Order: sequence, then structure tokens, then C-alpha cells
Amino acid sequence: MIATKSYAAQKAKEALGPFSIQRREPGEHDVLIDIAYCGVCHSDIHQAKDEWGGSIFPMVPGHEIAGKVAKVGAAVKKFKVGDSVGVGCFVDSCRECPSCKEGLEQYCTNGMNATYNGYEKDKKTPTYGGYSTHITVDENYVLRIPSSIPLDKAAPLLCAGITTYSPLRQWKIKTGDKVAVVGLGGLGHMGVKLAAAMGAEVTVISTSDKKKDDALKLGAKHFLNSKAPDAFKNYTGHFDFILNTVSANIDFNSYLALLKRDGTMVQVGAPDKPVPVHVFSLIMGRRRLAGSLIGGIKETQEMLDFCGEKGLGADVEVIPMNKINEAYERMIKGDVHYRFVIDINSLK
Ligand code: NAP
Ligand code: ZN
Ligand code: ZN
Repeated sequence: MIATKSYAAQKAKEALGPFSIQRREPGEHDVLIDIAYCGVCHSDIHQAKDEWGGSIFPMVPGHEIAGKVAKVGAAVKKFKVGDSVGVGCFVDSCRECPSCKEGLEQYCTNGMNATYNGYEKDKKTPTYGGYSTHITVDENYVLRIPSSIPLDKAAPLLCAGITTYSPLRQWKIKTGDKVAVVGLGGLGHMGVKLAAAMGAEVTVISTSDKKKDDALKLGAKHFLNSKAPDAFKNYTGHFDFILNTVSANIDFNSYLALLKRDGTMVQVGAPDKPVPVHVFSLIMGRRRLAGSLIGGIKETQEMLDFCGEKGLGADVEVIPMNKINEAYERMIKGDVHYRFVIDINSLK
């Protein structure tokens, strides 16, 4: 076993602090990764605070992992020592169900093995995430990071990047489509960059007026402050597609009204409480409300390669490990520009 330093929450809502874990020595098909950076996703906060229920403690969060291969098992074909690699939200899955066979492991009917707050394939060894110095992962669940993306800017692509890329591709966003991105945080800012790179005319809908200049720099054409009186007045039936990345509940009905006929609003933000939807918000204009969960390995690699070609990465604020609790507080207030990324060297 490999003694590994990490940061963990010992209980729900407790501050994170130093914790020692063990990683397995790489088996035949495993890759040992020396973690360089780990992004901080709002899902880390939801789970560390047990807002979704069923959280497993102690919890080492982190599923936006970027680093270098330190060691490979004898049968590993895809990677060699020194390669730049990433790990996202899951480290294994059943590999047999229809979703796994289609490369949609995130929808594994037997349940994917989450990178943290889950269990290994034995269903009893808890998984620990990327707020740690090393991780051992089967090569089939490891992604290659293009050399053109610095590792700190690449880490958030492993969740924020793929979570926004996947629905944009699924709903075939193309040049000229009017796309709104709601919430300009980690997911939102990647949603803006990716939709703009696909040729869409992007509008950011935000509660923070001071993010306007950044929204435009990230690639948006328009900015709407959702708190302004009559903010949506001239936008009824305006958008082809809305990507809602907000980590709290918003009034779905007022956003659905902004869709054109046959438009779709995709929910990626994951607050814990149900949201009332008026059926007329959908019936009128044959509008759709859908959800989307991260992305499979194949599509995640496609997204990384797309970002490599287009020169895209996340806008990051790099923090040492011991600033994590402060970063959580700032994210809860919407004070994020636009992804906190932990410099894992500060833990070594
Ligand atoms: P984040 O960086 O904290 O950004 C969330 C943004 O939502 C904030 O910056 C803020 O943007 C807006 N917001 C926050 N509270 C709000 C409120 N009360 N009313 C209106 N707007 C509010 O979070 P993230 O990491 O991007 O994650 C966003 C959500 O996606 C989380 O719920 C997370 O769990 C979920 N998620 C889902 C998936 C999936 O597969 N579906 C994957 C990853 C994350 P403004 O300042 O611009 O208003
Ligand atoms: Zn995430
Ligand atoms: Zn499966």
C-alpha cells in the first residue's frame, strides 16, 4: 500500500483537515498518478455537507484530478510514466450494462464507482478523491490531457468541462444558436467558453452584476442580471437552449418562458430540494426540461481533445490545500472566478 496525505471531512458540515489514507499498489491494469492539481466542484460542498443525503465519512472530496503518471501496471497499454493525465467523477463501472457498453459509464445501471463518496468494485472499500497526493486508477478510467493545456487549467475540465460539453453536444448546439448559461461559476464559465467555441450566441444570466465584464471576456455576447426588475421582459421565447448550472433552486417557470418553441432547458446544477414546475411552462411551445450527468470516458476524452485544439482551459484561482474551507465559503456566496484549484504540492 502507498501511504498518501489527504484532506478530509470527518463528519457532515465539519471543516476539512489533514488525513492519512492508503492507495493500492498499481495492479496489472492500474496507473498510479502523482496528483498536481485538483479542482473544487460545488458537488464537493454538497457532499461534504451531506446535502444530498447518504454521504460516506471520512470523506476526501475531489473529482477534478490532473497529474502525471508515476507508475504503471505490467499490462497497461495506454499510458507510460510521465504522461499528463486526468481522472474525473468515477474510477470504474460494471463495464457490462448497455450504458457502459455505449461508453456512457456515468449512467451505469449497476452504479458507477464514484471517485469519492462511493465504493470500489468490492462494494466495501471506500473511495477517496483528489484532495490527496496520489491515486491509483484502472487505465480505462484515466484520461489523457493534451500538452497544450497547463495542468491547473485542465483539472476543472474533468468535471466542469465535461458536464457542460456533454449536453451542448447531445442537443447539437451549432453556429448561431441562442444559448443562455444560467449561473457564472465553475460549470457556467466552462459552459460559456464551450458554447461560444461551438459557434453559439451566448447570453449569461447571473445574479452577480460584477461578473458582466468577465462574462463578455469568456465569450458571451450578452449579459442579463436576473435580479434586475423586468430582467427577462424582452426575452420571452428567445433562446434555443438554456443550460442551468445554478447550485441552488431558481424559479424554473420564469426561465422556461425564455425558450423558443421546441427549446430545451437542461439542468446540470444539482440542489437538493424539489422545484415546482407549472405544466403550462412546458405545454406552451412544446418546451422541454431535461437533465444531464457529467459524461462518459469517450466523450470526456473528446472534450479534452477539443479544448486542446481550441486552446481552452478553465480560469482558475490556485489555492494551497489549507485554504479549502475558505474556498467553500466563498463559493457558497458565488464569489468564485471561476474555479478554485488546489495546488497539491502544498500537501506534499
Ligand atoms: P459554483 O462554482 O459554486 O457556481 C454556481 C453559481 O450559481 C454561482 O457562482 C452563482 O452564479 C450561481 N448561484 C449560486 N447560488 C445561487 C442562488 N441562490 N440563486 C441564483 N444563482 C445562484 O458551482 P459549480 O461547481 O459550477 O456547480 C454548480 C452546480 O452543478 C452544483 O449544484 C453542482 O453540484 C452541480 N454539478 C452537477 C453535475 C452534473 O453532472 N449534473 C456535475 C458537476 C456539478 P452567479 O454569481 O453568476 O449568479
Ligand atoms: Zn463536479
Ligand atoms: Zn455498467
